[in-house]
Amino acid sequence: MKFSRLKLLGFKSFTDPVELVMEPGLTGIVGPNGCGKSNLVEALRWVMGESSYKAMRASGMDDVIFSGSGNRPARNSAEVTVVLDNTDRTAPQQFNTADTLEISRRIEREQGSVYKLNGRDVRARDVQLLFADASTGAHSPALVRQGQIGELIAAKPTQRRALLEEAAGISGLYSRRHEAELR
Ligand code: ATP
Ligand code: MG
Repeated sequence: MKFSRLKLLGFKSFTDPVELVMEPGLTGIVGPNGCGKSNLVEALRWVMGESSYKAMRASGMDDVIFSGSGNRPARNSAEVTVVLDNTDRTAPQQFNTADTLEISRRIEREQGSVYKLNGRDVRARDVQLLFADASTGAHSPALVRQGQIGELIAAKPTQRRALLEEAAGISGLYSRRHEAELR
């Protein structure tokens, strides 16, 4: 499974539709301070099911919606889509149904988020589990936030363990066990 495209509409500073093609190999994003580099990485984290608005450097989840700038009016919704190339058929079992997996998350002001997987409505949970099982979850060590290296050095052992569990691909199992215990 590989990330192949990221599409944004109205997410943070990206009011116009933007499509980022992720070619095989290394992709670098360069630009001046405040141009939206971190916002792009946050869009990826968000579409993978991030539930913490703080992880979006926001004071509420609606803050990910473009709030207007200069002469551009604020929007009432934001949408991010990630396209995964699954031609190697390595997606977690229950999602391993197609060569391409397209996951989208849309938020409307004061309405919360809805998710779709290849056009079908799914729960946030389904999307979170897909990525947790693939060891690329929103909290995965594969996504390193600005400032995170410093935090990692100062982290408590339990926090460090959570990262190791995600790296080992077992955080999906833990989260299913937690869900089963609540029933
Ligand atoms: P640096 O190099 O300093 O790390 P960066 O390229 O990572 O910068 P970001 O932090 O991604 O920049 O982008 C910050 C910009 O995004 C700010 O100008 C901020 O005003 C804008 N921004 C964030 N949220 C929104 C929003 N909801 N609506 C409009 N603009 C937003
Ligand atoms: Mg940044």
